[in-house]
Amino acid sequence: MLEAHYCIIGAGVVGLAIAEKLSHSGNGDVLVIERHDAFGRETSSRNSEVIHAGLYYKKETLRTQVSVTGNRLLYALCEMQGIPYKKTGNSSSPRMRKRSTP
Ligand SMILES: Cc1cc2nc3c(=O)[nH]c(=O)nc-3n(C[C@H](O)[C@H](O)[C@H](O)COP(=O)(O)OP(=O)(O)OC[C@H]3O[C@@H](n4cnc5c(N)ncnc54)[C@H](O)[C@@H]3O)c2cc1C
Repeated sequence: MLEAHYCIIGAGVVGLAIAEKLSHSGNGDVLVIERHDAFGRETSSRNSEVIHAGLYYKKETLRTQVSVTGNRLLYALCEMQGIPYKKTGNSSSPRMRKRSTP
């Protein structure tokens, strides 16, 4: 029987990131259970590959804070590991509200 202090179900990017953190915490063994025969076989390997900048949500939300911090950390990680990326830039413009006719 397998025994571990932590059990994570799902080896997508979220499960693997948590497992990576826990495995360095020194708090015990980590077991990752995945239903496929390899990691990252679902959403994590089928997304649009965009490194989000946190533009889409309200500034004060946790989502924005996490996006902005993650953006910085991900570019730093790519640099550190020699992972190629493209900074294609992205333009956005405010949407005008339709004026209601009197
Ligand atoms: C169309 C699309 C485009 C996207 N584009 C972007 C983008 O450009 N940039 C970006 O940052 N994010 C993007 N995202 C979001 C991002 O891809 C997801 O938030 C992220 O991949 C989710 O990771 P996850 O580990 O939670 O899920 P997943 O990658 O789906 O991993 C979950 C894992 O759990 C396993 N699992 C589930 N149930 C069980 C079970 N009972 N037993 C064992 N294993 C199980 C699955 O097999 C899977 O491997 C996009 C999402 C979608 C849908």
